[in-house]
Amino acid sequence: MATIKLDVVTPERVVYSDDVDMVIARSLDGDLGILANHAPLIAALKMSILRIKKDNKITHLAISGGGFMEVNPQKITVLADAAERPVDIDIERARAAKERAEKRIASPREDVDMTRAEAALRRAMTRLEAVEKEKGN
Ligand code: ATP
Repeated sequence: MATIKLDVVTPERVVYSDDVDMVIARSLDGDLGILANHAPLIAALKMSILRIKKDNKITHLAISGGGFMEVNPQKITVLADAAERPVDIDIERARAAKERAEKRIASPREDVDMTRAEAALRRAMTRLEAVEKEKGN
């Protein structure tokens, strides 16, 4: 099977860089499955799990910040504010972030930015979901 190069990059680091069989990404317009030789496209990604198929294994990357995906026939580039491999996710940190955000949302105060709290909650949940999905591999 032809492979396609995938790079997942954040402002801080290269999170993933390898030749893969397929990538399934959640774009604002729905799920996209990308194989080698795909037509060029650019898509905005939802905060979501990026599924990477390689050698009959699936890896789940948390795209925990806003992101874009650029597709060319031989290469996929994902640029995201934040992205993590499940092995790099600190579960306790994500649980603590989730709890903190839930508390803020549950007892709104004037000085609490709800949009920010909701975004933090979604980031934490995306990270925990990536870890759970990876376990179920
Ligand atoms: P926290 O409140 O725990 O800092 P956050 O959602 O505000 O979480 P971000 O601003 O999205 O954190 O990310 C800052 C940096 O920390 C990024 O490099 C991100 O990959 C990393 N990061 C955040 N949470 C985790 C986690 N649970 N495990 C591993 N890396 C994380």
